[in-house]
Amino acid sequence: MKLYNSLTHTKEDFIPNEPGKVKIYTCGPTVYHFAHIGNLRTYIMEDALVRSLDYLGYKVKRVMNITDVGHLTGDSDDGEDKMLKGAKREKKSVMEIAKFYTDAFMKDCEALNIKKPNVIQPATGCIPEFIKMIEKLLADGYAYEAGGNVYFDISKLDKYYVFGEHDAEDLAVGVREGVEGDENKRNPADFALWFTKSKFDDQELKWDSPWGVGYPGWHIECSAISLKYCGDSLDIHCGGIDNAFPHHTNEIAQTEAYLGHKWCNFWFHVLHLNTTAGKMSKSKGEFLILDLLKEKGYDPLAYRYFCLQSHYRKPLVFSYEALDNAVTAYRKLRTRTAALTSDGTVDQEILAKAKEAFSEALGNDVNTSLAITAVYDVLKLEASDATKRALVADFDRVLALNLLTPFAPEAKDEEEGDPEILEQIALRAAAKKAKNFAEADRIRAELAARGITLIDTPQGTTYKKA
Ligand code: AMP
Ligand code: ZN
Repeated sequence: MKLYNSLTHTKEDFIPNEPGKVKIYTCGPTVYHFAHIGNLRTYIMEDALVRSLDYLGYKVKRVMNITDVGHLTGDSDDGEDKMLKGAKREKKSVMEIAKFYTDAFMKDCEALNIKKPNVIQPATGCIPEFIKMIEKLLADGYAYEAGGNVYFDISKLDKYYVFGEHDAEDLAVGVREGVEGDENKRNPADFALWFTKSKFDDQELKWDSPWGVGYPGWHIECSAISLKYCGDSLDIHCGGIDNAFPHHTNEIAQTEAYLGHKWCNFWFHVLHLNTTAGKMSKSKGEFLILDLLKEKGYDPLAYRYFCLQSHYRKPLVFSYEALDNAVTAYRKLRTRTAALTSDGTVDQEILAKAKEAFSEALGNDVNTSLAITAVYDVLKLEASDATKRALVADFDRVLALNLLTPFAPEAKDEEEGDPEILEQIALRAAAKKAKNFAEADRIRAELAARGITLIDTPQGTTYKKA
């Protein structure tokens, strides 16, 4: 498998540390608000990566954190804790909103057929692990105490900016205009590992530590949680591109300083979902959530299809027009795939060849749009329905678009009547008019056998389903 590695800026052969096994760490959501559909794009594409690895025969272990403490409104130690901000907004406790938005996130993931990671770990459950890591960084001279906080000293590293050039947009996340510098820091890019004194004294969740009562920085949580569940060598670390700097850069700095060796081999970054007005972000206040799309009548899986149609390393622009096009394409495709029967025998040769094309698409840096094209190619095959059905079932292990499940009749049909039944009623009326009562009775009996009862009224015939 070839995978693009943000660390080297090249597509590389993916070789896991242990043959056949892959350990993946994913930055999870900050649960102070609903995930927006941009966040969900990242989780859908990470799911495509996990499912692709699984399809290609690897045994995958995936770990994800839940950020319920320490993520400040500015990614570089400035601003208020996002969780506290959310709690104040909703006049609830931090733990209450953490639970509510974690549950909401899990529900979204389920609706989008995103596989549950093997481990989901809230940061507040690993405080001793964070403290242990910070203690060693201090003992080894990589960290220092200043003004009541503990900071990582980036000048102790040979190389800090490991991802090389960043987009101006990514760097802007860390270096924002109008943010006054933290005078405790020896170098402007040093970052907090533990706070006991921040500008916001009303931090709700605090823990005792060797440096006083306080709370962890955001970056330390991902490092410590990954080390706890994945050990000292990680195969792939995932996240949205905005996480590359400073979050992932800081994770690498502190983890490799802690371990004394290289930590993670591959960095998989998903590019942003943008609106025509720019990046979709929670802090901008205006963002779209999955529930809103559902309220508007969109099937979550149509949104998954919309995401899978484009490559994860390209920015994706969201518009309702583009989503509507995806809905039409998805409905047409699934209507055709779900109608495939099991007729005929499965042709093993055709099966193997089509699977090879599909594997090639996935093995080429998780090319999901080509993987979807592979489904259309199956429908064009000169092959039995059984062969095609077997292939669609197989491909859907990765695409997870419920391609073999027929759509439920649309609500519209319930109100206005199912067009097919209405047609039978019209045919029966025509038969009656032509005094062909045998045919009229046959239609009535046939519908009755399907649990559909016809009701004749002076205004015409209606029906009722059993
Ligand atoms: P957060 O809940 O803010 O910690 O973000 C959760 C994930 O969504 C992270 O991996 C982010 O990098 C990612 N993310 C944030 N904004 C976007 C966006 N507009 N498009 C895609 N991914 C995003
Ligand atoms: Zn993280």
